[in-house]
Amino acid sequence: MKKQYIIPIFVPHLGCPNDCIFCNQKSISGQKKSVTKEEAKKTIDNYLASINKEDAEIEIAFFGGSFTAIEKEKQEELLKVAYEYVKEGKVESIRISTRPDCIDKETLKRLKQYKVKTIELGVQSANDYILKRANRGHSFEDVKKASKLIRWYGFKLGHQMMIGLPESTRIDEINTAKLLIKLKPKMVRIYPVLVVKNTKLEQEYEEGKYQPLSVVQAIEICKEIVRLFADKNIDIIRVGLQNTNEISDPQNKQSEVVAGPYHPAFRQLVESAMWYDAIVGKIKKLNVKVKEVEVTVNPIDANNVIGHKKENVLKLKDTYDVDLILKQDEKIKQGKSKIKVTKTYID
Ligand code: SF4
Repeated sequence: MKKQYIIPIFVPHLGCPNDCIFCNQKSISGQKKSVTKEEAKKTIDNYLASINKEDAEIEIAFFGGSFTAIEKEKQEELLKVAYEYVKEGKVESIRISTRPDCIDKETLKRLKQYKVKTIELGVQSANDYILKRANRGHSFEDVKKASKLIRWYGFKLGHQMMIGLPESTRIDEINTAKLLIKLKPKMVRIYPVLVVKNTKLEQEYEEGKYQPLSVVQAIEICKEIVRLFADKNIDIIRVGLQNTNEISDPQNKQSEVVAGPYHPAFRQLVESAMWYDAIVGKIKKLNVKVKEVEVTVNPIDANNVIGHKKENVLKLKDTYDVDLILKQDEKIKQGKSKIKVTKTYID
């Protein structure tokens, strides 16, 4: 299987007609001004120079702002740069992310012309009250219409949703995941809300009007949402914001994060917690008092079974007095496991 690479080009706040309560795209992308075609080309060339092209599947991704809200000429200027690389066979595909209310037939035809393959929509919530509260400036109806149109035109559809928005509850977030599944995305990103500097949310946080989720709360909700998408074979391409100088521990001087469920290995925490639940669930079904259990998984899952800083091994010992022995076997499918009780308390 080919290794996938993404060349990210950030278009911070370019064209975005909005000012969502949680967003300061300039902080998130670590870039203060709009991107020119020369800069885009330089970024692509630099990435290409560092990628081993054999066995590589390379995609150029315009992330950050709302690509299709940018003026048409600027969209075309950037798309033309990316499309040249597709035509030359140096890059396989192009991806953009945008707002659901900035999708129409004319826009999609333009994106088709430049061989854009994937369109990711910032959905955030399926609850119109929460969207309004977050100052998103669009409704869930916009998401439904845009998603259908994107699929109808033959693009790969991606959704981004958030947990922990002001006044959003676990039920709202599970409901959002269920409603998104009905719109048949190929991929999703799940972002716990972080309080970022120079946003309206920071102001609310300082005034005590907004309380972010803790890391533990965010993990608990993400576990349920990841399971819902995974059960429908929807690719979960990200859980938690990507770690950068700006999105890092709030204690770090360069960090733009003020508060919220930040963790450098957030996804691993979620996946490890899911493995822990699965192992405990299997042990509980056994009709013996287990002392030691051997869990065999695919090597890809090994770290998540053990947990971040061996958390699962320690918790299993602490809570149930069970020793976990990890075995790896490439023949076992990713996500599956074999469990064997190797010692019981009667032995
Ligand atoms: S639509 Fe996107 S880029 Fe614009 S303010 Fe909201 S989150 Fe930021």
